Amino acid sequence: MQTRCSGFYELPAVWFYRRASCAVEAKTSRHFTLPCTRCGRAAAEIALLPATETGESMWHGRDRLERTDFLGTVVKFGTYAQLLEFFEALCRGEYAAVRTDDADFVAFYCETCGQVYCDQCWRVGTPVFDEGFYDYTLGTCPQGHEQIVDD
Ligand SMILES: [Zn+2]
Ligand SMILES: [Zn+2]
Repeated sequence: MQTRCSGFYELPAVWFYRRASCAVEAKTSRHFTLPCTRCGRAAAEIALLPATETGESMWHGRDRLERTDFLGTVVKFGTYAQLLEFFEALCRGEYAAVRTDDADFVAFYCETCGQVYCDQCWRVGTPVFDEGFYDYTLGTCPQGHEQIVDD
């Protein structure tokens, strides 16, 4: 009777442990490079980075998406699940959908011609200031479309 009893109580604990460790493992870091449509150079590097106890980045303690290579670095915070969804939409090339959510993050994507260009192929203009504070930067894509490339 006692054996049966302890067996019964042990089972859910093991089950819980497995589920918990599985959830931790699912939070992996992922990287993705977007090539420029025009020259093939990397237009942007996107990294999905789960929070870590220690790290070199000043944001290591938070789940985040980091965009590097295109003009300045852009960091986006959120829950890992939200960021993963955003990351996967980028991997699928759904830039137009992603753009409605966060235009600055996908500034390398020309909304008008629907292409991805690197910061060498965008003709990046001079930064626009508003009362002494940095406001935004306009860029012109190789097809001549103008949009904000850094906000
Ligand atoms: Zn290019
Ligand atoms: Zn364009």
